[in-house]
Amino acid sequence: MAPDTPRSLRVSEIFFSLQGEGSRVGLPTVFVRLTGCPLRCTWCDTSHAFSGGQSMSLAAILARVAEFPTRQVCVTGGEPLAQKACLDLLTALCDRGYDVALETSGALDVSLVDPRVSRIMDLKAPGSGEAKRNRWENLAYLRPHDELKIIIACRADYEWAKAQLAKYDLARRCPVLLSPAQGLIEPRELAEWILADGLPVRFQLQLHKCLWGNIPGR
Ligand code: SF4
Repeated sequence: MAPDTPRSLRVSEIFFSLQGEGSRVGLPTVFVRLTGCPLRCTWCDTSHAFSGGQSMSLAAILARVAEFPTRQVCVTGGEPLAQKACLDLLTALCDRGYDVALETSGALDVSLVDPRVSRIMDLKAPGSGEAKRNRWENLAYLRPHDELKIIIACRADYEWAKAQLAKYDLARRCPVLLSPAQGLIEPRELAEWILADGLPVRFQLQLHKCLWGNIPGR
């Protein structure tokens, strides 16, 4: 694989679907999935993006995005920030008037992301096997139009999330989303834990999986 030049990116797929998560759920959205991720979450559902894909110039990505009938763009991965030119892509999309969301693991620095972008940042709970990768300094850069997402694989993950909410006053920084890890806990269990505690979070299921299952390109 040729190394990325500053104006090109390794792209796993570009596709049109409904946003499945967060405040933009249900909106027709173009997804730009970049290749590569330095993490290995136990429940990862996008391992097909760890390698492969094709090198595309910034101009070619922008031209492809423009083919779809929407102003919503989600840059995702993998871990999109693992490629430096992702920052250029995000700014170029904002400059063209798109509403841009970035899905990131929370393990890399988000401070240089264009401030017009909504950063949808994970906090990795212990059940992910990657909690040690949380870059806690990132919390200081979150604003109200960003979102924090925590995937819950077990009761211990839920207790961990509750502790972080209290310790860092997360719900006052931006919306906090709690999702059940598919196949590891019953969604209803998580919903009932949240209600029992009156936790200031948004429970979410991944809409695209309800509609299409877990298939690439959806
Ligand atoms: S950060 Fe995302 S893409 Fe990377 S291993 Fe974890 S879930 Fe998969």
